[in-house]
Amino acid sequence: MSKKEGLASFRKGIENQAKKTGYMLNPDPEFLEALFEGLFKNQQRYGYASCPCRLAEGDLRDDIDIICPCVYRDPDLFEYGRCYCALYVNDEFIGGNKGAGPIPERRPEKRAVITKVGDRMGVKNVGEHYRCNICGNEVTTTKAGGGVLVCCGEEMELLG
Ligand code: SF4
Repeated sequence: MSKKEGLASFRKGIENQAKKTGYMLNPDPEFLEALFEGLFKNQQRYGYASCPCRLAEGDLRDDIDIICPCVYRDPDLFEYGRCYCALYVNDEFIGGNKGAGPIPERRPEKRAVITKVGDRMGVKNVGEHYRCNICGNEVTTTKAGGGVLVCCGEEMELLG
């Protein structure tokens, strides 16, 4: 398969997935093309399609949160009407009500190191209440399995 065919098939895959899951892609064709090229380049370079707007480490363990669609996409869509790169957008962005300028980077500069499950006890009890300090999701456990809860690439904070 030529590089051009590879890019076309890669692009089709993302477009189909977006359609199937109800997400909207940026309507600007040139902008979109540049993002697909960036993603495809990263896919070839690293073996995974890391975010074209962020510097990847080249190690899956460090870049796991920025593999497109990154874990920050949905909170950014909710708050700003677009993901960080503006590959994914919503009606509020299209209508000009949100996300026109640059948006803040949600990815924490220093990410928590998630220790392997089994190194220590995570969730101990039913009814523990956790919050994600990046997107604000809050969860209450209904079953204690012992694992560590992670959201937006970081360990969630135990509130009580
Ligand atoms: S910011 Fe957008 S383009 Fe970048 S990884 Fe997240 S979803 Fe993909």
